[in-house]
Amino acid sequence: MFQNLHFDDHEEVVFAADASSGLNAILAVHDTTLGPSLGGCRVWTYDSDEAALNDALRLSRAMTYKSAMADLPLGGGKSVVMVPTRGAKTGAMFEALGKAIQRLGGRYIVAEDVGSEPSDMKAISTHTDHVTGLSVADGGLGDPSATTADGCFIGVRATAAALGRELEGLHVAVQGLGNVGFGLAKRLHRAGARLTVADPHAPAVSRAVEELGAKAVPVGDILTVEADILSPNALGGVLNERTIGALKVAAVAGAANNQLARSEDGELLRARGILFAPDYLVNAGGVTKMCGDYFGWESAAVTRRVEGIADRLSAVFATAAAGSRPTNEVADEMALEKVRAGANRLEPAPA
Ligand code: NAD
Repeated sequence: MFQNLHFDDHEEVVFAADASSGLNAILAVHDTTLGPSLGGCRVWTYDSDEAALNDALRLSRAMTYKSAMADLPLGGGKSVVMVPTRGAKTGAMFEALGKAIQRLGGRYIVAEDVGSEPSDMKAISTHTDHVTGLSVADGGLGDPSATTADGCFIGVRATAAALGRELEGLHVAVQGLGNVGFGLAKRLHRAGARLTVADPHAPAVSRAVEELGAKAVPVGDILTVEADILSPNALGGVLNERTIGALKVAAVAGAANNQLARSEDGELLRARGILFAPDYLVNAGGVTKMCGDYFGWESAAVTRRVEGIADRLSAVFATAAAGSRPTNEVADEMALEKVRAGANRLEPAPA
């Protein structure tokens, strides 16, 4: 375990089982230096226990970086629930998970992720208050996707500015027109950008063509569209050895998590002169909203922090350019520095 590439000094990893509901879950708390760890609950059919563990470790570590770079008082954590078949989750499983989260005493705050939804958060909340992402009807702030799209828009605008461009007349190729991708496309259209889009879900594509004047291309062609910016808003790993050589854009900025297949691919982009806006900076709107939800912030405080995405990206771009270094490497370094600075913060003197 301690030699596992993804373990990376996790503070705590809990294996939680509950015989009556059939819950098998792993809760990973990577780092709580800056605050309680927050991260979604992924519900998935894993090929092995090891695959589930690696996913939990990798994702919780990524949350430490994301929240640190977003200047949130949060650390990184994640939970995974292993189900034998897709859709085999039950309310009783989430109630049992709520008990396991409660036993962590607030060191881990759960939210939605792939495979979980507001009703699951409600079941969890029967046993713990350390949950965010409840529906508006249940007293939460609801789906964070609109805030993620706001942040993504700000990120694309900041990336365009780094290219010396405004949004008016900018050509953006949008991969994925789901909750975030369509929201982003709408905001870009309003700001005068020209859009080329792709999504296997035909109704979303028709809507983008009709409402936003977008040009549609087949899913397999979007990564080779000649445009100013490519915005991946669907899958991870889209930037890899095979695809990077064929890109015809000046920059990449989108919401999809883990766009680089390997961290070395950041250097491949840099070497091709393509500016990469690190995904976890661009897509931090969602976690910012969940953080505000948990701590009861005014919505203006959430908005202010989401607007900060522009300055954070500019700082990464400037440092990377000055050192001829890949932006993903610079962002990781800055995130770690923020965690270290938090660890070195002086405790207030006792009263
Ligand atoms: P979503 O499921 O609503 O949308 C994803 C869309 O991508 C769907 O319309 C799907 O049809 C499309 N798609 C799938 N394969 C595709 C392909 N090969 N080419 C083009 N389109 C394809 O998801 P979402 O909430 O919009 O999230 C989008 C991405 O942003 C995900 O990677 C997610 O992890 C990340 N993200 C989302 C949030 C959030 O608040 N929702 C926050 C942070 C990161």
